[in-house]
Amino acid sequence: MRQILAHLRTLARRLILSCLLAASVTIPATASAKPMILATIAQLGEPMSRILGNCATVETLLGPGVDPHLYRLTRSDVAKALRADGLMANGLNLEAQMRDMFDRMSARKPVIYAGELLDPSKIVLTGGVVPDPHIWMDPRLWAEALSASATAIAKAFPECAPNVSQNQATVLAEIAAVDAYIEARVATLPPSARVLATAHDAFGYFGKRYGMKVLGVQGISTESEAGVAHIRDMAQIILDRRIAAVFVETSTAARAVDAVIEGARALGATVTKGPALFSDAMGPPGTYEGGYVGMLDHNATSVVRALGGDAPERGLNGRLNIPRQHKDTSG
Ligand SMILES: [Zn+2]
Repeated sequence: MRQILAHLRTLARRLILSCLLAASVTIPATASAKPMILATIAQLGEPMSRILGNCATVETLLGPGVDPHLYRLTRSDVAKALRADGLMANGLNLEAQMRDMFDRMSARKPVIYAGELLDPSKIVLTGGVVPDPHIWMDPRLWAEALSASATAIAKAFPECAPNVSQNQATVLAEIAAVDAYIEARVATLPPSARVLATAHDAFGYFGKRYGMKVLGVQGISTESEAGVAHIRDMAQIILDRRIAAVFVETSTAARAVDAVIEGARALGATVTKGPALFSDAMGPPGTYEGGYVGMLDHNATSVVRALGGDAPERGLNGRLNIPRQHKDTSG
């Protein structure tokens, strides 16, 4: 019965979307001179708004703490996407519930999937099969994706080409600086401490880039719950490898991480809950952590300090406000 209801709900949602899409044919083009580009995640929206400068308005759909794997478009999101002159998403199945509609809208406006502009050989395949969508965790790779996206935007909106060529180098240089900072800070960790245990498998590219082993309590999507056996295994690994901290994320539930910490402590491990990391969402817009560079700085500085390495308390640019320790509810 529950399955039938879920199916009916999906059908109803599709019907509403179809009606809105059909209605969009008659919606007149916006009179505004500047194109409006709608990005799904802020990791795209924030740097792109800086690269495009005043030639376009860039809006971001998913705010702080929002999980893109599970997010379903609301009616007002659909209206916003219909109004937009261009759409940008990560792709590679990150925005699993939005893809259908974005693909359909691509008949009428440019739709750019940043992650899918990269050479496929650079995409990490989880279990050798499933593309890992969390590319922004490797700043060098994300810089390539942003650059390719900016080129695509400049092609679709030629009025933006001068801005792209003027601003892109500055934004990419800041990303290169934070990349070098992370590499140097991770190098202060003893090799045995280079283990990043987090709520879900968002840090694969980070681990690959900086030589850290990554352990996710959940898989690469947050859709599947971590099983009891997996939580027990994680607890054992934390004990065996003397992992000092496990991290929660701002956009996923903390309960699985709490269970792992509890399990590891029951086995005799000394492990703390590190500050919440920005995995699939960033900080509030307008704050340092609400920018892509600030988000990376926060993550790297938090991780290195919690695992016993050397990093300045306020990060690369002296602008971080990391809570001393995430509120520990696991006892
Ligand atoms: Zn994720």
